Amino acid sequence: MTKNSKSQLDYIRDHFKANPNKNLETTKVKGIIENKYLSETGKRFEDCDRGIRSLYQKGWLIKVRKGCYKYDPNHKSDDKTLHDFSDKIKKQILNRDKFKCVVCKLGKKEGLDLHIDHIKPRDRGGKSTLENGQTLCSRCNFLKKNMSMNSLGKKIFQNLLKQSIKSKNREMIKIAKEFLNLFEKYKLN
Ligand SMILES: [Zn+2]
Repeated sequence: MTKNSKSQLDYIRDHFKANPNKNLETTKVKGIIENKYLSETGKRFEDCDRGIRSLYQKGWLIKVRKGCYKYDPNHKSDDKTLHDFSDKIKKQILNRDKFKCVVCKLGKKEGLDLHIDHIKPRDRGGKSTLENGQTLCSRCNFLKKNMSMNSLGKKIFQNLLKQSIKSKNREMIKIAKEFLNLFEKYKLN
């Protein structure tokens, strides 16, 4: 590859490739990449932050935290399943779920927007496959997102159920079971 055929993204890739499996802060690598680009091409690098983010969105970089990314050579970057669901898979998921939300069973007929949701979230390695996809209405999707944030939730209700069984508190057993059913429904683990 000649110098001139290298794109701005190639410069970012090269820098991350030279530092495999290291958590690199955008604010720190930005200057290095921009300077290298300037010295080799004589041109200014436009929006390095955005370039880094786009490589993450393409599945090429792994996000460690906000503004910090790493490159893992063993991570299959051209694995299509890391990207968002393809239109083909989306259709397959909708057909399989009969164009209804898998949780509340409501759908387009009832005027709800349908979303294709990653059962295991992408940022935890969930893939964009038929098996990892489910149809959710906007309402249930919103609920799922908010419930996932509380990973302690399930444990709390499991403990509540145990205690309620011990104390034979029927009302509490019922409530705890209802909540645990929700975790099951949304496949929150
Ligand atoms: Zn729903």
